[in-house]
Amino acid sequence: MRTPKQLYAHERMIYHPEILTCPHCGDLLVPCNYLAWDKTVQMLDRVVSVARRPSRCPHATCVGSRLRLLSAEGQRLAPAGSTYGYDVVVHIGWGRQESHATYREMHAELASRVRISVSHVGYLSQQVYEPLLACHERQHRDRLAQIAKQQGGVIVALDGLAPQGGEPQIGFIRELSSGVTWRSGWLCQQDPPTFEAFLEPLTPLDWPILVVLSDKHTGLVPAVATVLPHSRHQFCQAHYLRN
Ligand SMILES: [Zn+2]
Repeated sequence: MRTPKQLYAHERMIYHPEILTCPHCGDLLVPCNYLAWDKTVQMLDRVVSVARRPSRCPHATCVGSRLRLLSAEGQRLAPAGSTYGYDVVVHIGWGRQESHATYREMHAELASRVRISVSHVGYLSQQVYEPLLACHERQHRDRLAQIAKQQGGVIVALDGLAPQGGEPQIGFIRELSSGVTWRSGWLCQQDPPTFEAFLEPLTPLDWPILVVLSDKHTGLVPAVATVLPHSRHQFCQAHYLRN
């Protein structure tokens, strides 16, 4: 019997939240003494060992003490429960969708870069990519309302991934502390009207959006200002420790 080769991570990274202060009282957050999802992730170009260290508000009386702030950068690497990166998942989905590639063809194409079986290519396509694309804000409304009630609002993280390096791009709206993917979809353009339409479901919410986190994408920044004019918009900068 062959012994399976071990996967060696090229890098070890511990992600800390990009948000440094409590969204409720404004005091500095303190790191928790445990790690949230600590795993090895295969990406298209590397294998990484990643973990996230949550932070919380130090004041027990503040509603922010119920929040566990996590890194948005860390969250965008891989879906919950998956040891393959979003780049691998989206690459498979794109190949299936645009080139009508079979699982075997996708596998042959990926085999030099990622250790994966043909059946797992099928699994990522059917059980991860398709549900991801089908996710819709209405599906998660009750869960998000409950989260918002518990922690006094929600934290929205926006990001995107372009399998061809340009357009189109798949966009994601996530709730940061729960990891719920609120909405995702292909954006054929990356201009403010496209982003405004994508963010539109966030406007009629009955609960506050405490912070919006995203990168400084030129089309996205004005769209957030238009759709969510009263939200605090913070930009992600990689915030991790390498060791
Ligand atoms: Zn606080």
